[in-house]
Amino acid sequence: MRFLLWLLLGYIGFRIIKSLLAGAHKPEKTVLAGSETFQDPVCGIYVTPEDATVGRLEGQRIYFCSRECLDKYQEKLNSGSI
Ligand SMILES: [Zn+2]
Repeated sequence: MRFLLWLLLGYIGFRIIKSLLAGAHKPEKTVLAGSETFQDPVCGIYVTPEDATVGRLEGQRIYFCSRECLDKYQEKLNSGSI
């Protein structure tokens, strides 16, 4: 019976960690002082649409801090790791 209890605790812990990770990996969109910022999915920097390099993916606009990050993102897409 003790083994089952540990198994249950382990399962609950696993679920909690998994939900925390899922929450942390949600695409973030923050509104700061009236101007919208977007997170660069490659390096994690927040950019405003005016300063960003804009990539397009399936009709969605994705904002990057630089051309290099856009290129890296496209490389990742092409290699299938996203
Ligand atoms: Zn970047």
